[in-house]
Amino acid sequence: MVIVMASDAEQSDVDAVIDRVESAGGQAFVSRGVSRMIIGLVGDVDAFATLNLSGMRGVCNVTRISTNYKLVSREHHPDRSVVHVRGVPIGPDTVTLIAGPCAVETPEQTLESARMAQAAGATLLRGGAFKPRTSPYAFQGLGELGLKILADVREETGLPIVTEVVGAHEVDMVAEYADMLQVGTRNMQNFTLLQAVGAAGKPVMLKRGMNATIEEWLMAAEYIAQRGNLHIVLCERGIRTFETATRNTLDISAVPVAQRLSHLPVIVDPSHSGGRRDLVLPLSRAAIVAGADGVIVDVHPQPDLALCDGPQALVAEDLADLSRTVAELTVYMGRNAPTRRLRRAS
Ligand code: PEP
Ligand code: MN
Repeated sequence: MVIVMASDAEQSDVDAVIDRVESAGGQAFVSRGVSRMIIGLVGDVDAFATLNLSGMRGVCNVTRISTNYKLVSREHHPDRSVVHVRGVPIGPDTVTLIAGPCAVETPEQTLESARMAQAAGATLLRGGAFKPRTSPYAFQGLGELGLKILADVREETGLPIVTEVVGAHEVDMVAEYADMLQVGTRNMQNFTLLQAVGAAGKPVMLKRGMNATIEEWLMAAEYIAQRGNLHIVLCERGIRTFETATRNTLDISAVPVAQRLSHLPVIVDPSHSGGRRDLVLPLSRAAIVAGADGVIVDVHPQPDLALCDGPQALVAEDLADLSRTVAELTVYMGRNAPTRRLRRAS
């Protein structure tokens, strides 16, 4: 069950609803929606139905929802949402390009990658300072030093930063620097981390687990939403199948399916799905035409020297093609290039 509070509801009205739900043995999770407070209820729905919640002061609407991902579902919020990352929109009216190095390696490499991204029309910069690597011997990222480099590059270029957080204990530190917190595929079901990023109050990009169903992905998003944060962007990054020709199999149908089930924006990572430079352009095309709200790609000034994922990193020439394609398909899909608006986070 989901309760939408009136836009002029007061905190005491919200508290009264929570008290009544808890006194009936239920749990209430408060989230701040675009303009209103939303309360997700967990417990015995039939018992809640006897509480006359719709008659309480400040309550606008009470909806019974049968899915296990109430707050992020379209049943609860029929219109598709726009998430703003420092004023850059990701949502149904735009196609947002996010680009940058897989990993932050040096200040020079990060700045150069950011300049390449910006020249291609990217409005957000990606880059990992904490890298969740399959091999414990692989480069693990620069940690806080990497975050400082990203912050300097943001200062220099004006591009807001999307960066991964790997452990719950690092969320506060990463959130100090990041404009958007990325939760990677290997952590999609790290529930403690999801709750911590939910509480951090920054927009979150939630990658789909490589072995996760779409329903599991949406329930993972619900963990974030339950902690009061509905500024979530879903990212399809390929799943594991029997196919070995690509690093992962891009599940293109996940884009319209997730958008049908959830109001959250859905973007695609063609770099980590294909795992090969030559596949990034065709997979980006497929993503945008399937309705993705953006794409996130790896770039590197010298992929041969990259400490992480060099084979899938785009170089300047590839980016010119990608940039043109994104611009053309944005028009084809009746969308706009995202322009940054400095406004209250919504
Ligand atoms: C990344 O985007 O840097 C990354 C590690 O991606 P994924 O979690 O999808 O493997
Ligand atoms: Mn990578």
